[in-house]
Amino acid sequence: MFEHLYIHIPFCDGKCHYCGFYSVMAAPSLTELYVGLPAAELDVLREMRQIAAKTPIRSVYMGGGTPAMLGCDGLKRLAEGIAGKLDLSGVSEWTVELNPASVNTDILDTLRAIGANRISIGAQIFDDPTLKLIGRRHSAEDAARAVAMAQDAGFGNVGIDLIAGLPGVTDELWGQTLAHALALQLKHLSVYALSVEPGTVLAAQAAAGLRLPDEEAQLAALSQAEQVLGAAGFARYEISNYALPGLECLHNLSVWRGSDYLGLGPAAASRVGKTRWTNCADLSDYIEAVQQGRRPACERETLSDVDDALERVVFALRLAEGIGLDEIRHKFPVLSGRIGEWKKRMQGLARQQIAEPHGQRWRLTARGRDVCDAVLRELL
Ligand code: SF4
Repeated sequence: MFEHLYIHIPFCDGKCHYCGFYSVMAAPSLTELYVGLPAAELDVLREMRQIAAKTPIRSVYMGGGTPAMLGCDGLKRLAEGIAGKLDLSGVSEWTVELNPASVNTDILDTLRAIGANRISIGAQIFDDPTLKLIGRRHSAEDAARAVAMAQDAGFGNVGIDLIAGLPGVTDELWGQTLAHALALQLKHLSVYALSVEPGTVLAAQAAAGLRLPDEEAQLAALSQAEQVLGAAGFARYEISNYALPGLECLHNLSVWRGSDYLGLGPAAASRVGKTRWTNCADLSDYIEAVQQGRRPACERETLSDVDDALERVVFALRLAEGIGLDEIRHKFPVLSGRIGEWKKRMQGLARQQIAEPHGQRWRLTARGRDVCDAVLRELL
């Protein structure tokens, strides 16, 4: 049974050029209608016996989109709706993603009041010309101010997202961004490699000749981040995530460790038991389905025992803690027949310096992290 809840807020005030997430332009009529729908989706799932009444939740993650687009009243009503359907009394981490331009004291006070205790701000890079180039609608100063406002509002756990390998960003400029980030007294940083998603403005720009950093330059930028952030005490606990000790994101960590999670809202994904589903990435379809009492999922599959266990285990290799083969045997008896073969494969990866033993566990090396997706595919 899931203990981790994701709520997608599919509204933005524009579209960043690289963005492949599902979002639409915010309009008052839509946001007003939307605030009640995640709770209504819970009713639909309960009717279908997919979830139990008052399921106890340990972590909530509100992402998007731009959650603040719901406004203070909308955020309150959305949270009240969810609290009426799930048991949120044991939530130890409630994260909200915020865009720098959407941060103000009213929103922050509202988020504190509904129970949020962790803020993740999309800074991306501290350089105004690059922010403009990628279609962001805020300045570097806005991002720094948003972090300070969240800290002043009492959020003890504030982090930012950065993108490595943006067009035109030199090593020096990237170094300045990392230094700027470190000056903000953050607890967590996510550093993603730029990815060109189909259908985005960036994909069209690249097709029209915009020069993007090659793979080698991207890996160099990621490595620079690891060195700078590591020297400042941030551990790279997952391929794209750094935290001060004890401040890792519980929600994402739980998902990578194989826990169940429920996603509400358009395009949200869920893993509950052996069933996986993803909601339609279309707000109109989502609204219509929930209002008519239908589940808004477009893709749904139930995995075999083996595939379910494999998926839960293999993605833990993204984590610095790696995977323990004896632990897997104990937790997933259905995989015990594969442990011998995996051990051989890990030894083979170790010879290629892609994996390494770490106590009783196996984890990826720095080289392995660079080719993580390929390794995961091979193991699956
Ligand atoms: S603000 Fe976030 S979700 Fe919205 S368009 Fe930009 S990257 Fe995408």
